[in-house]
Amino acid sequence: MKTVGLRSIVLYILLFAFLGGMGWFLANLFINGSRWAMQPYNGHIHIDGSMGEVQDRDGNILAYTEDGSRAYSESEATRRALLHTVGDTEGFISTSVQYTFRDELTGYNPVFGLNRTVFSGSTVKLTIDSAACTAAYNAMEGHNGGAIFYNYKNGNILCKVSAPGYDPISVPEDIDSNPDYNGAYLDNTLSGAFTPGSTFKLVTSFAAMEKWPDTWTGLTYSCQESEDIGGSDVTCLGYHGEQDMQTALGNSCNLYFAKLANDIGAADLQKAAEKLGFNKSLDFSSIEIAPSECKLEGANANELGWAGVGQYTVLVNPYHMMTVMGAIANGGAYVEPRLTEDSGLFGSSGGSRALMSGVQANNLKAMMRGTVSGYYGDWLFPEGMNVCAKTGTGEVGETREPNCWMAGFCDSDSYPIAFAVLVEESNNSLGAAGAVVNAVLSELIS
Ligand SMILES: [Zn+2]
Repeated sequence: MKTVGLRSIVLYILLFAFLGGMGWFLANLFINGSRWAMQPYNGHIHIDGSMGEVQDRDGNILAYTEDGSRAYSESEATRRALLHTVGDTEGFISTSVQYTFRDELTGYNPVFGLNRTVFSGSTVKLTIDSAACTAAYNAMEGHNGGAIFYNYKNGNILCKVSAPGYDPISVPEDIDSNPDYNGAYLDNTLSGAFTPGSTFKLVTSFAAMEKWPDTWTGLTYSCQESEDIGGSDVTCLGYHGEQDMQTALGNSCNLYFAKLANDIGAADLQKAAEKLGFNKSLDFSSIEIAPSECKLEGANANELGWAGVGQYTVLVNPYHMMTVMGAIANGGAYVEPRLTEDSGLFGSSGGSRALMSGVQANNLKAMMRGTVSGYYGDWLFPEGMNVCAKTGTGEVGETREPNCWMAGFCDSDSYPIAFAVLVEESNNSLGAAGAVVNAVLSELIS
């Protein structure tokens, strides 16, 4: 009996060891399987015809496999416009659909591996409008930057373009040495953060509403074009005289917002910015969005003044800016953006996140609408779009032309579209970024 007992204990130990080992193996296969299958030495996955199609929202084919090679849209402008969204054949653009959706596109699954007779490479249909992306790319006129537009009611990303880029069917040989291609593998809308200039005045306005919810409308400051704040001058583009928040936003008066930022104080301005999502990274499916930054600890009065107008060390990520615009448009909460309508594949299940109260959202919306109708001109955009927006010109040093921004949305049930557009090294935000907004909106309503 004693012997039998000992034997069964040994058997149990062996059995547990075996099951434990199998469990460990299966867990690893499940967790890492797709990564192992996509290693470079498994390069055949990319080229042997197993990857399915990538389509835009209208079923236009953006990428497919032909004779064992990856092929892209016929139009060169469309290939370039969609590069960072669709992705490259080599897998360098790690935020792209071909990279992040590789399991769906190759038909990989943890049970059957790459067995295509069971699961053939499937089609991934995006929410993107490829014509709108091409329109944005063309309107950027060769400048670097980024443009991202989405439907703020259902979260569908309609346009996402980044530059610099290249043509995925003829990768430039000097891509790693030519400075013109610096950052060509990065999607600026997701992985970039840039000096926002006056678009940040919306954040400073929001901070004032947070601090003085009942009395902010009475805040006035005067502008004499240039004024010593904290030992050196803060300058404005005009001599605006007495300003309230609406006129200051319309005129984009630096002195109004520099003085307002000092009255709000560094801690409260940063706290309000953080409520809107600054200083933390948003998740977009498996992608970590580059954080927008507003870190004001230790800033002196002059630096705080410049921070209030979107200079100093303030940085903004375009995807994040678009979500803030989505929140203002949508009563204070933004719907999470998505690239496919199948929940779980890329980002959103349609959830929303509140950034501000409905009252604050409506107040900001009214001022942005007043800025377009009273200062920029509705003629800049397709008729009836009811655009609410703010431009920005982010100064980035003596030797470079500034960043030109436009952030906003259409206050429209028919076209619930929010956007953030950045055109680098330009000097006319209304002209350069406004042209991209106009081109995309025109395409989306056609
Ligand atoms: Zn001014």
